[in-house]
Amino acid sequence: MPRKCCVPGCNSNYDSEIKKGGPVVSAFRFPKDEERKKLWLLAIPRKDFSPTANSVVCMKHFSEDDIIRYDLYKTKDGTTQQLLLMCPKLKEDALPRIFPNLPKYLTKEKSVVRNDPQERKKKVFNRTAAAIDNFLKADIIQSFENVKNDFASKVESVSKWHVIMKNSELFFYTLSVDYDNGSDEGEHLYIVNSVKLDQNMRLKVVIKGNELSSHELKWILPYDLKLSRWSQLKNILSRYHKFEEINCKSDQSQFELYLQKCRNYLEKCCEMAEIHDYEHKRQLEIVFDQVSQLTLKKRRYSPATILFSFIMFSYSPSAYKFLRNYLLLPHKRYLQMLSSSFNISPDNESNKTKYYFSCAALARLGIDVCGRPPYRFLGAVASSYSTAC
Ligand SMILES: [Zn+2]
Repeated sequence: MPRKCCVPGCNSNYDSEIKKGGPVVSAFRFPKDEERKKLWLLAIPRKDFSPTANSVVCMKHFSEDDIIRYDLYKTKDGTTQQLLLMCPKLKEDALPRIFPNLPKYLTKEKSVVRNDPQERKKKVFNRTAAAIDNFLKADIIQSFENVKNDFASKVESVSKWHVIMKNSELFFYTLSVDYDNGSDEGEHLYIVNSVKLDQNMRLKVVIKGNELSSHELKWILPYDLKLSRWSQLKNILSRYHKFEEINCKSDQSQFELYLQKCRNYLEKCCEMAEIHDYEHKRQLEIVFDQVSQLTLKKRRYSPATILFSFIMFSYSPSAYKFLRNYLLLPHKRYLQMLSSSFNISPDNESNKTKYYFSCAALARLGIDVCGRPPYRFLGAVASSYSTAC
């Protein structure tokens, strides 16, 4: 027969309960250790009670975490397994605390042991640091092949882009239809924005025909525009797919766009002219500088233009004034200020070096300062601008 619980108000294992079909409840003997036994007696609300060797307290009066229900054992292969005990056991420091059929105040739930706040903070910090560390590790792109194989799963915003994959390049691009392109052939499909990644991991971002400079991409990429993290690619693709509303362009922005394109093409022409030693590269340089002035909000003349203006002005201030009607050139006061700052003049012996330097620079523009300036050249530039304007 299971032993009856000695706690007042508890009917566990009483005949009347078992007859009614009540369950047999595991029960525990009092501890042999006198100190522990005293603590049990203090905990149980029963006056003048002296437990015998058969007195028991049923498991209803113990917190779940004071009860041992499983035995742990190691298998041959070294893994730990749990074995359900037929008779649950109590932990060494277990105390009866729960008395369901007695006034509530007699039940004293086990207090939760709180960790030291500093320790808790440290744990939270370590967890966060580990999460960041894991994120950063997973964010690193190993190689170009890595991008090619995994971009579809790693970058959600890629679904808004078209993709072309080549052996050594990966292109992302967006398309739109131009209904108002001024051509007789009607609307046509064109690439709005594109992002190109080469096998050296260098990114090239072109928005509406303009390649973004490293300055414009410094918010996300290093100066060399090299991609090293998935988060960089995610951010770039999610930010630049939005620039699609090209059909809403006003006339003004369309004009500025064409002008900017013109400047970009001229810049490329100048670079190529230098490489291939194009016979009109000097003239091209002047044209490029003029178009640049039209696209800049604040005038910033190239050294070539400044030297050209300086010599032109020193030959004939009135001719220079006439030229300024057709070309974007510095104001005469700026040239006078330069002249006084550097004291450049062919008559000044002490500044011969500076003067010769100026002459050498001007020679690059095709101007012979020792003889008569080639007015035909200047006239050609001026007239071409006058008709264009
Ligand atoms: Zn009981």
